[in-house]
Amino acid sequence: MTIQHKRTFCRVCEPSCGMIATVEDGRLTALQPDREHPVTKGFVCHKGLYGLDIHNDPDRLNVPLRRVGPGKFEEISWDEALDGIATGLQRIIARDGARAIAGYRGNPSAFNALFGPAWGSFMAGLGDVRMFSSGTQDAANKPVGAEASFGSRTVHTIPDIAHTDFLLIFGENPAVSHMTYMSIADPVGVLREAEARGARIVYVNPRTIETARFAGKVLHIRPDTDAYLMAAMLHEIDSTVGFDADAVARHGRNVDELRAFVAAYPAERVAGITGIDAGTIRALARDYAAAASAGIHIATGVNMGRQGTQAYWLMNMLAFVTGNLGRKGGNIFSPGFYTRSASAGRGSTDEAEYLDTPFGAVRKPGGVGITLPGVLMADMILDEGDPIRAMIVNAGNPVLSVGGEARTRRALESLELLVCVDIYRSPTAEMAHYVLPAAGAFEREDVNALGIGLQHQPFVQYTDAVVAPAFERKPEWWIYGQLARRMGLPSILDEGDHPDLWGRMNAMLRSSGHSMDELRRDEVIVLAQPDPEAFFDSVIQTEDKRVECFPPMLAVARERMEAIFRELDAEPRGQLKLITRRDGYMMNTWYANLPRMKRKGRDRNFLLMHPDDARSRQLHDGAKVNVRSQWGERDIELKFDADMMPGVVAINHGWGHGTAAGMRVASATAGVNANALLPSGPGTFEPVSNQAHMTGISVEVTVAR
Ligand code: SF4
Repeated sequence: MTIQHKRTFCRVCEPSCGMIATVEDGRLTALQPDREHPVTKGFVCHKGLYGLDIHNDPDRLNVPLRRVGPGKFEEISWDEALDGIATGLQRIIARDGARAIAGYRGNPSAFNALFGPAWGSFMAGLGDVRMFSSGTQDAANKPVGAEASFGSRTVHTIPDIAHTDFLLIFGENPAVSHMTYMSIADPVGVLREAEARGARIVYVNPRTIETARFAGKVLHIRPDTDAYLMAAMLHEIDSTVGFDADAVARHGRNVDELRAFVAAYPAERVAGITGIDAGTIRALARDYAAAASAGIHIATGVNMGRQGTQAYWLMNMLAFVTGNLGRKGGNIFSPGFYTRSASAGRGSTDEAEYLDTPFGAVRKPGGVGITLPGVLMADMILDEGDPIRAMIVNAGNPVLSVGGEARTRRALESLELLVCVDIYRSPTAEMAHYVLPAAGAFEREDVNALGIGLQHQPFVQYTDAVVAPAFERKPEWWIYGQLARRMGLPSILDEGDHPDLWGRMNAMLRSSGHSMDELRRDEVIVLAQPDPEAFFDSVIQTEDKRVECFPPMLAVARERMEAIFRELDAEPRGQLKLITRRDGYMMNTWYANLPRMKRKGRDRNFLLMHPDDARSRQLHDGAKVNVRSQWGERDIELKFDADMMPGVVAINHGWGHGTAAGMRVASATAGVNANALLPSGPGTFEPVSNQAHMTGISVEVTVAR
């Protein structure tokens, strides 16, 4: 037997933790922490290690499939699959134009460095196709909020946790999700270290999150109200200790307009809707401003509300007006191995361009991070005048991840051609005409490119395919290259069977004096620590290099902010609000088919409710309850959770695989799709970013009949 130990890294979330793969006679048999890794230093979580279970899952897709009836598929050759898809796409384009084609890229696509260029080139070759992504379900606000504040969709600052005195984190549970739009190995360990050296850590969240067991304290907030808390904090700082005069004079523009805007949201006014008393808001604001250094961050719990872009802008303002932007221990920018990463997303802070659609104004897609709203996908497919007729879904599961499952299913069923490229026969793939088996994370070469601009300690790592793709599985770049070739479009395979896949990455590495040859040889290159003070000289991308404190782009969002305030203020007292969440045993829908993740009562999801809320409704722990929103209803088991803020209930998302016959564990432990209760259709997304409204949903909970 030949046993090899190969260095690789995890492709599940931002930290890209280093791992050692054991390969026995060409089979992946173990994954272990890479204790010699210079940055992640042996940290991995069980989600990373359970990548082995996904790799070896007997329900993985192995060969191309063609649907021959409801729930029935036949195995076909790659030639048959690719020819059939290419012919179908050509027929639809010839008849209805390229606008009748749509693409949807799911979250795992972001952790696959060779996917993006192949997908982008294929879709551009098709023409004016409509593009969707999972991004409008969890983070579409961030590129727009960055553009509005700093003139670039790729300038995202991260809190300098290692040096901060005060850390304020909104809508994030680092112990479970390991942070988003921020790459840091062992976040809990880093938070504990920060607290141990005297830093104060506050999580603003509607639930007492698991992370607080290790470090920091939670301040409960009503969901979907974070932007009002931030506005009130800015006003409190302005009217008491004052903005940092030097910072705003040297680097700000339209600061007085910001002052006037936040003056409409004093602590007393927002206390009722946020659920935080005015005294606590005032003290939080003054403590944040008074700290010698303070870092701030927002994550999906804020992104997925109705005003994620407003919140991101206001977060940037809090960092800026307190002098914490570009300060050690404050918020810093980490360019990583691509020194032009800040300018790569360069845009304008001016008024945004919108498309006029039958479903209302939509932020024009294109460039970094903006796609069509996923919650309009069903409308655009079913639109009689200008329908989408074919869709290609890459590593995505819109049936479960987009709000309004019933509408999504109805729409996908009507398609003339649905193609899914995936590693599983997911609920979405179950509806596809063709299902193509993608190579898994350990069956393809890769670079941790997602970390660019987000890493506390920048590093770049290359991994070869740990093992060759099993069965007929193929990497995505090959699939889209083949489809392009069969449709007579420019293709990476025009270069021959062994194209230079890494030319673009090589050019990016050259910007920091490195190369693919060097990276292949060394596997891991540790880069220089970010320079906090470079922010105003070389990071910010506005023309005058000043922070835009009152972006014209957000004029529409600011008007909405007052309208939504009045709506929230008029709600009945005690209105229950639904949030969705993750736990340590799932990651969206990725781990749904793993028996090891479903043990010890984790074979279903629950409605989490504070015991006081439950008792006032005569509901008991373990009861079957009905959760009803304006958009749907589901029956689910109730679980008491004293960590919930009273008035807020939660369901883990990523469940609901009942129709996925090809995923035997997932379909036998289906649980409830929380997203079926969420809004979809016109008016259910943030216009400036196309981000869906997915948290803070009004619901009623009663005993199930
Ligand atoms: S923290 Fe994220 S990248 Fe690291 S092992 Fe866990 S899932 Fe993988």
